[in-house]
Amino acid sequence: MIKKLLIANRGEIALRIHRACKEMGIQTVVVHSEADRDSMAVRLADESVCIGPAASANSYLKKSAILTAAEITGADAIHPGYGFLSENAQFADMVAAHDIIFVGPTADHIRIMGDKIAAKKAMIKVGVPVVPGSEGAVTSIAEAKKAAKLCKYPVLVKAAAGGGGRGMRVAHTEKDLEQAIKAAKQEAKAAFGDDAVYIEKYLEKPRHIEIQIMADSHGNVAHLWERDCSLQRRHQKVFEEAPSPALTQVQREEIGATVAKAVKKLGYLGAGTMEFLYEKGEFYFIEMNTRLQVEHPITEMITGIDIVRQQIRIAKGEEMSFTQEDVILVGHAIECRLNAEHPETFIPSPGMITDFHAPGGPGVRLDSAAYSGYTIPPHYDSLIGKLIVHGRNRRECVMRLRRALNEMVIGGIETTLGLHQRLVEAEDVIQGNYDIHWLERFLQNKTMQT
Ligand code: ADP
Repeated sequence: MIKKLLIANRGEIALRIHRACKEMGIQTVVVHSEADRDSMAVRLADESVCIGPAASANSYLKKSAILTAAEITGADAIHPGYGFLSENAQFADMVAAHDIIFVGPTADHIRIMGDKIAAKKAMIKVGVPVVPGSEGAVTSIAEAKKAAKLCKYPVLVKAAAGGGGRGMRVAHTEKDLEQAIKAAKQEAKAAFGDDAVYIEKYLEKPRHIEIQIMADSHGNVAHLWERDCSLQRRHQKVFEEAPSPALTQVQREEIGATVAKAVKKLGYLGAGTMEFLYEKGEFYFIEMNTRLQVEHPITEMITGIDIVRQQIRIAKGEEMSFTQEDVILVGHAIECRLNAEHPETFIPSPGMITDFHAPGGPGVRLDSAAYSGYTIPPHYDSLIGKLIVHGRNRRECVMRLRRALNEMVIGGIETTLGLHQRLVEAEDVIQGNYDIHWLERFLQNKTMQT
């Protein structure tokens, strides 16, 4: 039974989880830092507990403070959202040790998938296609050279503990390799405290296509189709759509079935996402995220399934309320990430939102915790919210997105709203014709013109 759930997160995702709980008749507790006292989640949650100062290290990442808040309020479950402690196996273990339900997979699955080398090995075992590369971490330059030669240049040096696009370097020739390894190791050591790196073939024009899956403790597993997240800047997703304009129905059924079968073999529990690069008709696994993703709403829009609600059901030990046959793909959805950043320089622009108007009408959803008069604190990531649009087909979806972006008002700070307005006018975006480098090229051309 879950009567009261603690939300260990902030911003739009804290609100998203609160909303699912309320629709399920579950009481909510939200933890927050001193900087988030005025947040929408704090206003709406049934209870709130201040767990520390603004710095995440002393609040949202402080496991003991979060567990204490759960104990004091008598919460029987914790939802970690995304980021912060959502993929921290130690935290999942600690939650379980306190007899509190962790809304997520087991600590063991988090641990395996958090180590990219271990994850890749696990995927090979369960029949998921991976990017060719070294068998594990490379321990010498000679070994790295051998692996790179085998998968042919260009290659990518990647940190085993990597995340957020950090700890990655491309080497175009054997001459670049030593330097790339040194730089990737340095960055990985600083960011993750672990400098293990491995070698992978660098795919030159892939798309980023990921498959959403859900599995319960009764042996039910289903995939919820794919999301195309190829429009990225510095390996960070900016604009996502579902389904991918690059796949045929047969292809999406095939990769979905492969992933669902693999997830079943892994004995995985809860929501997860398998990320792939896709090039010339082939899929290559890159990583599995063992949590709710930022872009989960587009999948909800095309399937009608509330992923957060299902996560909570699964955590309670219940069956998911659908089977694979019920996951019918309807129409098309796009999500735009709206950040408090300059639309061209991407310099963060925290501060007070003086005017805020949310678009509405058919097929429009805004997942945001912002309001007029809200001050975006400078301490966290700059996401203001996500504009999600659904249409009967891709064309309707794009037209709807254009009009919704034009209705949206966020005044007082710089935002990436203008970037999205330019994107929906770009011919390649309209045609769905882009790869993971397209956005960087688009931004570069833009700067060159101005
Ligand atoms: P992170 O965990 O840091 O996000 P990922 O492994 O998910 O790292 O990769 C992030 C992004 O880096 C991908 O979406 C893609 O743009 C790029 N990338 C990763 N691996 C490769 C590869 N082998 N070839 C080309 N690009 C890659």
